[in-house]
Amino acid sequence: MKKIVPNILVVDDSKAILIVMKAILNELGMSDTITTCLSAKEALDKVKKDINYFDAIFTDLNMPEMDGMELIRHLGELNYQGGIIIVSEMDQKVISLAASLAKQHNAHLIGNITKPVQLSQVSKLLIKVAQLNSHTLLKEPSISEGELIEALNNDEITPFYQPKVNANSNIIESVEVLARILSSKDGSIILPNRFISVAEQHHLINQITFSLFEKATSEFINIKAQLGHNFKMAFNLSPTQLDDLNCPNKLLLILELNQLTPSNIIIEITEQHALSSLTQLETLNRLRMHGFGVSLDDFGVGFTNINQLRNLPFTKVKIDRSLISHIETDLFSQVVVSSLFNITSKDHLDLVAEGVERPEELAYLRHYKRNLAIQGFLFSCPKPQSEFISWAKDWLRTDGSPA
Ligand code: C2E
Ligand code: CA
Ligand code: CA
Repeated sequence: MKKIVPNILVVDDSKAILIVMKAILNELGMSDTITTCLSAKEALDKVKKDINYFDAIFTDLNMPEMDGMELIRHLGELNYQGGIIIVSEMDQKVISLAASLAKQHNAHLIGNITKPVQLSQVSKLLIKVAQLNSHTLLKEPSISEGELIEALNNDEITPFYQPKVNANSNIIESVEVLARILSSKDGSIILPNRFISVAEQHHLINQITFSLFEKATSEFINIKAQLGHNFKMAFNLSPTQLDDLNCPNKLLLILELNQLTPSNIIIEITEQHALSSLTQLETLNRLRMHGFGVSLDDFGVGFTNINQLRNLPFTKVKIDRSLISHIETDLFSQVVVSSLFNITSKDHLDLVAEGVERPEELAYLRHYKRNLAIQGFLFSCPKPQSEFISWAKDWLRTDGSPA
């Protein structure tokens, strides 16, 4: 996998801090890709020149003329998609305010580091930058339209299954179905980050969705019988697929053929584009009226802020991996996740924490004593059907405690 070094902008009115930051970033292997500015105004001008150039911006809060808060607001207005990191001494209240401000303006505030700046803090946040930008930074090239059509013609779209486990009871509540291309020639596997956007661009995404939906729902009863308990199956839809008013009917038809009902199914809306048109909202509402669970995916990096959540017909929210990773020591993530817990418990929305990889993260999330489902490599990565079934049987036998 090719790793491209991220372009970083550092803004601080103290020359000394800029020198320290530069030294640290140099140490971390980023010497040619750092830009520094002594004022927020200068920084904003640089960003405006090419909005996609910087992958991350480290900013001080306290600066004369334009301060860090105002800079974050402007970056949000400009629809800047990189990560923003605050470099400042802050108490909980200030972080909380900055976080909600950033969310209101759809800016991706991904954390804070305190002064004196330490290499370990910066390096941890750069991992988050890489996660946020995984589509641009750590990317194997996409496959071509022709290759995708061939995979579809050869019926190579294959469902992989990943469990979501209840944090308190350890019960497997649901299983997310994730698309893979499994080569019929050599058994190699292509991951969705190399073909979903190609499918979206070339109007092939419906074919992928319905192929997966047919395959996985036709196995539902078999999988359920082998596990010996009920669960739900979750599928991903791109927002553009909601523009098709007939989408719910097509799904209903497939369910009927497999003697299932919408209550067995959760639809996750992968929200790389803002959920915008009235048609999309109408389809979402219709899915919900039919009894499908509807889940907002990737909360924390998408376009929906906490206040908008209330007005959309979702039954579940999935907290993105970038907010879960190292949450036990990350004050910023803790503040965002706590406020999400507060708001969603009033509105009876179910929560899923995605990307739980470490026991410390699970332990921290369990402290909330909140009904929460956990999905992540700590329990299981996405697996093909037979491997998933063996994993699940083992899990049930050992009363579901992770190793
Ligand atoms: P997603 O919907 O957010 O799915 C979760 C992704 O996180 C999966 O990647 C899964 O393998 C990964 N993941 C789960 N737990 C962990 C963990 O603990 N650590 C890490 N590092 N990663 C974890 P995957 O399968 O590569 O899918 C990537 C994205 O592709 C999905 O993100 C979804 O947006 C999209 N996608 C997959 N299948 C479909 C599909 O059928 N239709 C559409 N529209 N999109 C799909
Ligand atoms: Ca998903
Ligand atoms: Ca996600």
